Amino acid sequence: MTTVSEETRTQVRFEDLGISQESLEAVRSVGYETPSPIQAAFIPVAVKGGDVIGQARTGTGKTAAFVLPVLERIDFASARPQAIVLVPTRELCEQVGQECRRLSTDRGCRTVVIVGGRPMREQIDALNRGVHVVIGTPGRVIDLIGRGILRLDGVKVVVLDEADRMLDIGFRPDIEKILRRCPTERQTFLLSATVPPPVERLAQRYMRNPDNIDLSSDGVTVDTIEQYYVTVDEDRKFGALVRILELERPNQVLVFTRTKRGSDKLYQRFAKRLSNVAMMHGDLQQNVRDRTLQKFREGKLRMLIATDVVGRGIDVSTVSHIINYDIPEYHDDYVHRVGRTGRMSSSEKGVAITLVTKEQGELLTAIEMRINKMLPEYDLSGYEAFRAGPARKHVEPERRVTHEIDFPEFSDLSVA
Ligand code: AMP
Repeated sequence: MTTVSEETRTQVRFEDLGISQESLEAVRSVGYETPSPIQAAFIPVAVKGGDVIGQARTGTGKTAAFVLPVLERIDFASARPQAIVLVPTRELCEQVGQECRRLSTDRGCRTVVIVGGRPMREQIDALNRGVHVVIGTPGRVIDLIGRGILRLDGVKVVVLDEADRMLDIGFRPDIEKILRRCPTERQTFLLSATVPPPVERLAQRYMRNPDNIDLSSDGVTVDTIEQYYVTVDEDRKFGALVRILELERPNQVLVFTRTKRGSDKLYQRFAKRLSNVAMMHGDLQQNVRDRTLQKFREGKLRMLIATDVVGRGIDVSTVSHIINYDIPEYHDDYVHRVGRTGRMSSSEKGVAITLVTKEQGELLTAIEMRINKMLPEYDLSGYEAFRAGPARKHVEPERRVTHEIDFPEFSDLSVA
């Protein structure tokens, strides 16, 4: 195993990575000037043909890091699946598909996204017409393999993206079944923000002497994010959120809740007054989720309230603020959530604010240990009513703010 440090790679150009002329032109046309550290480290190793584990935080350009080497292996004249990318969520599927198409430009990479919640017919038709790269969530992929519709015998590269997350969601048995259906003579890439023991075991079992590219120790979250926490009583959270929105006036904000029900409740409270707010969680139909995400991308929505599973696939460079309305229970989810802002393609700094109740101190500490950084407290001073502790007897200001959501800039975008 080789480990590559970030400093040794930062001056590298795309020309130095061993990718084809076509890929160099595509990268230029997309507007990427220099490779990100994970790209600079991962691509040259991957194009040599061996297995690679890339441990990189989200928002660092990891998608292009594996898509470029995958494209190098595709014979575009043949229309059978030659690469399969497994990801944890539908939204991430779309992001990977888009990157494959953008970075293949004239070569015309044909992709199919295989996810549940979409008509299977469309996916079958696409497969019958012929595709180069299959991108999917493990459940539906297994389904199509089982029906004899998807054949993987022409696969040369398998990618497990956000492997830690896929295992968290319980996709392990499906992933293993899929890997066993792929030819043994293949290349396997595994991308993961973290490599806990279950991911390591998967790698040991299904990868051959992988190179390990670890950029995670350089700080888990992206430097362009200002991160804060704020202590607040459970029953004051809504008021605190409103106050933060008033103070921050975010360009676009993603609010995370722990449960679908929590998203729903919070959404209902805002939707009474504001039209440019939406929510997204796993119970909503795929076409509704797609439309919501599209509106968010187009800037027609100012605030999106989401749960982790759907939230993590959101790649919208205009997101300026992440608010963890509920502190994540797993510290890795914090890293993934916060990675939704301060994206590489955005020049703006992102802000992430986590609401913490007094009882949740340990969760905050676990996050701080994970990101190796103490979070400063967000200054809601002057708004003592939101804070935990003795100040809570001054409840009037919160009531006032809660009932008059006073952030007119939030209502000036109407949803089409
Ligand atoms: P990812 O970590 O793959 O989700 O990528 C985060 C964002 O960075 C995406 O919006 C990409 O389009 C963008 N990106 C990827 N590689 C580069 C690069 N070399 N230069 C600038 N932006 C990039």
